[in-house]
Amino acid sequence: MSTFWSPAVHELTPYVPGEQPRQRLVKLNTNENPYPPAPAVTDVLRHFDSDSLRLYPDPSSDELRAALAQQYGVAPEQVFVGNGSDEVLALAFMAFFRQQAPLYMPDISYSFYPVYCELYGVERRTLPLDSQWRVDLGAFPQDNGGIIFANPNAPTGHAHPRAAIQRLLERQQHSVVLVDEAYVDFGAESCVPLIESHPNLLVCGTFSKSRSLAGLRLGFAIGSRELIEGLERVKNSFNSYPIDRLASACAIASLADQSYFERNVNAVINTRTWTTEALEARGFEVLPSHSNFVFARPTKMKGAALFDGLREKGIVVRHFTAEKLAPFLRISIGTDEEMQQLIDAIDEFQP
Ligand SMILES: *Cc1c(COP(=O)(O)O)cnc(C)c1O
Repeated sequence: MSTFWSPAVHELTPYVPGEQPRQRLVKLNTNENPYPPAPAVTDVLRHFDSDSLRLYPDPSSDELRAALAQQYGVAPEQVFVGNGSDEVLALAFMAFFRQQAPLYMPDISYSFYPVYCELYGVERRTLPLDSQWRVDLGAFPQDNGGIIFANPNAPTGHAHPRAAIQRLLERQQHSVVLVDEAYVDFGAESCVPLIESHPNLLVCGTFSKSRSLAGLRLGFAIGSRELIEGLERVKNSFNSYPIDRLASACAIASLADQSYFERNVNAVINTRTWTTEALEARGFEVLPSHSNFVFARPTKMKGAALFDGLREKGIVVRHFTAEKLAPFLRISIGTDEEMQQLIDAIDEFQP
């Protein structure tokens, strides 16, 4: 606490990201991709003209937005880019959710959403997940100042089909519906095709997971021109240059190599499949995952005890202390070798 802080800063409970250990550990705690980015990204870095860094980057990132627009079959004016999708989300909260009516979200979802609510003074209401760990999309009330959810959800890995989200959008036309698709490439349906008919739909994505570029900090949003203009207005009142020259060039190179992208994502999905089976064979309850992690409950040990035991063996996963989540571990999908080390460690705890 400090007398120099603005009063509101005393009240904040900031988001705590998963740790970035310095030692060499098997790191399965922050849903990073275990494989390197596309080779073309390495080429960009090798040949990058450092003299160009004297100059500010393009404030509107036109080239990158055009590349994303082509990838997703939309117009460049329907694309917004930011310094990680966390920044895109923060700007979206500022642009769309500071309303008279409360913002609705599932009670279990990405834990950064409540942090933004606190930062911006957005009133928050939650809907409970059912016994299958799904939110009932039909239960969002009409009178709301916005709706946000991750699809696939974190940390459960559950994904709604696009048709179910379309039905939600037919009912909710007066406030912004934000679908956070950070994990969509690992086996869920994207809602981008719905933006044409739903001007209140904003879809957020990131290069951090399926494109192996968490360290680059590149996120994006796709939506109607109206929503994108709202985001631009807020962004240009905050930071003119969130995307640096290197990030832009690397992201464009990553988008250009579709076959590498597909191989990368498929490798993660294959590893997820056998890891799920191996955990189930050891008595774990594993929620069906459409993402690059599994949410799994050991039945022979407490979640916290297994977390500590794995940590001692140099394997870090994520454990959440909230009552409903505490029996589970969220385990990012690593390489086959890393997942085998995880399984071997579990076999030592519960022979
Ligand atoms: C990882 C993640 C993000 C943030 O991604 P960045 O682009 O790295 O900021 C956003 N939403 C969800 C649900 C995530 O899991």
